[in-house]
Amino acid sequence: MADAFATITQRRMTGGLRIDGLDGKNIHIDPGPGALVRTYQFGLNPLKLDAVLVSHSHTDHYSDAEVLIEAMTRGMTRRKGSLMGSKSVIEGYKQFGPCISKYHLSKPDVSVLNPDKTAKLDNIKIKGTKTVHGDPTAVGFNLKTKDFSISYTSDTEYFEGLYKYHEGADVLVASVIRPKNERIRGHMCTEDFITLVNEVSPKFAIMTHLGMKMLMNDAKGEANIVKEKTGVNTVAAFDGMKINLSNFVSRQKTLYE
Ligand SMILES: [Zn+2]
Repeated sequence: MADAFATITQRRMTGGLRIDGLDGKNIHIDPGPGALVRTYQFGLNPLKLDAVLVSHSHTDHYSDAEVLIEAMTRGMTRRKGSLMGSKSVIEGYKQFGPCISKYHLSKPDVSVLNPDKTAKLDNIKIKGTKTVHGDPTAVGFNLKTKDFSISYTSDTEYFEGLYKYHEGADVLVASVIRPKNERIRGHMCTEDFITLVNEVSPKFAIMTHLGMKMLMNDAKGEANIVKEKTGVNTVAAFDGMKINLSNFVSRQKTLYE
């Protein structure tokens, strides 16, 4: 964990979230349009990916998944890496998806994640988390190593019990696309996120605001409000933001070393 970093690209760069060095694994979550280009732009190597995670079948979350799978498998020449995603992304569900071609499913290890279903990436446990969103099979992801946990809500509206899927997260990443109490279906506003942060009480909270139509005008100001109201250090993600995750590792670990 000593050298684990998360890099987020977003706003008009809907490249998603990349986590490097988590228990030695590099993981790209929700590679939307531009994910490949931004990977290079921010000095990361797509060939070094171990897993691609896709939360749901909306284009801003999956459109670059296939090219990243090609990079991960060295141009589909090797059985390498893992692909995890919602049922809609991988198998298709009603009018949603599938988002990945059979060809691209043929090389990586493929897992469909439903809420509370866990798949393993070596020693990392990756659990699907429940959402309430336009794609009914959409999931978030909770990634857990022996001394660290990062949780990503993906697109969801706030609902009672949402926190249960993200309990114990050291770092909580959420899609929050509306300020104050401006609720819309399928998404969280700042007020919802304050409730969630209070319930989960992570060490660090990150608001992402993917999606081009409903950008927050003052995401930084909204993050400060969350920080004031919860006491949890909270930031609004920006393009190329890089976070050293090892700052948030559970202290317990040192007790046993
Ligand atoms: Zn969505």
